[in-house]
Amino acid sequence: MKAIKFGGTSMSTVESILKVKEIILSDPERRFVVVSAPGRTKDEDKVTDMLIKTSAAAPDRRAAAFAAVAARFESLCKGLLGDAGYLNGALDEIKRALPDADDDYIVSRGEYLSARLLAAVLGYDFVDSADLIKFKGGAYDDAYTEHMCRIGLAEHSSAVIPGFYGSDGNGRPVTFSRGGSDITGAIVARAIDASLYENFTDVDGFMTCDPRIVPHASVIDVLTYKELRELAYMGANVLHPESIFPVRKANIPIHIKNTFNATAGGTLIVPTEQFLSGKYERSAKRPITAIAGRKNFYSLYVDKSMMNAEIGFMRKLLACFEKYGISIEHVPSGIDSTTVVFSAVDNKTANALIKSVQDELKPDHIHLGTDTALIAIVGHGMVSRPGTAARAISRLSNANINLRMIDQGASEINIILGVSDADFERALIALNGEFEI
Ligand code: ASP
Repeated sequence: MKAIKFGGTSMSTVESILKVKEIILSDPERRFVVVSAPGRTKDEDKVTDMLIKTSAAAPDRRAAAFAAVAARFESLCKGLLGDAGYLNGALDEIKRALPDADDDYIVSRGEYLSARLLAAVLGYDFVDSADLIKFKGGAYDDAYTEHMCRIGLAEHSSAVIPGFYGSDGNGRPVTFSRGGSDITGAIVARAIDASLYENFTDVDGFMTCDPRIVPHASVIDVLTYKELRELAYMGANVLHPESIFPVRKANIPIHIKNTFNATAGGTLIVPTEQFLSGKYERSAKRPITAIAGRKNFYSLYVDKSMMNAEIGFMRKLLACFEKYGISIEHVPSGIDSTTVVFSAVDNKTANALIKSVQDELKPDHIHLGTDTALIAIVGHGMVSRPGTAARAISRLSNANINLRMIDQGASEINIILGVSDADFERALIALNGEFEI
């Protein structure tokens, strides 16, 4: 059995929902479906954004703000079921509740209505995630959810379930953070002991590199959970690794597919150990799976003679970052110098940080670089294979690109390179050329 999740773009128009229907009905294993609220179209906003505006309106203005959402569902009902009034009961109930409703109730109604609609289109049961997914004290309760989900779904042979929300002890809706329908899909996949979690979106899968910079970038057919984590950190935002923890724990693979190009292979994300033991094969046998990067990091360079002998130097330096709530990305170090790389902060915080490092550590030199880009070269194929870092460095030097830092994690599936923001695109192209991905 498979769990299948469709994102907002897939649920946005009559045509796209008919594609969704065709995809689901083409495979009898696709029996548990999770949906997002309808996404943006050329004329209309994402329903979730419309609902956020509705909830921000004064209580007596909410009905007017909600009217556009209701009209959108009426037109979808008309196009798909031939009956614009199919959701009238549900819409009336929401309209009545609006003046006193809290934000999570209002914002979650897009998924609720979307799932009710698709259940009717497919002839599947509708199961409300408020009855399956549980929050306690504002936090998601995984053990209770798994229990409720297993019981709640066992009664159904097929069902459509709204993504993005669950409920608290009083049955009141509570939402996950934005994009949370991916979590719902993963929870449902685990609860039905799915062989696969299919996540249908509007892109073909994870790419070997950003195609806006490297036009011949291609879709990665097999990716491990560990590689996913590294790529997502560098901004590849097809799927957030935190959003799929239930299937990762249960070792269920995820298949990223494109609703609008359903015959394309997509990206299969698999448990790392199973990949390493040879259960899955990648079509391309390359040491590097992907290269990804992000601009806009700051790097604080500090040097001080005899720094390496000064006990507590590092602790005091990092404490300055902690004091200003700055999260640290990398700390490449020499003998008497070190650089701390972190995401850009505002000027006031940066100045306060420099002052505090000067006061605490009395360095000989201190310099804040405000234009650093990080590039990650990722792949299990480089483990125990000498020369990957050397190739990357000499390729950059041949392209006349100054390397500001290099860092290889202990996992050995990732080499991080720092270059200036201005060199970022050229570096990505050069590294792609070197590793031919
Ligand atoms: N509709 C919600 C959002 O826009 C949840 C989701 O689509 O995953 O964030």
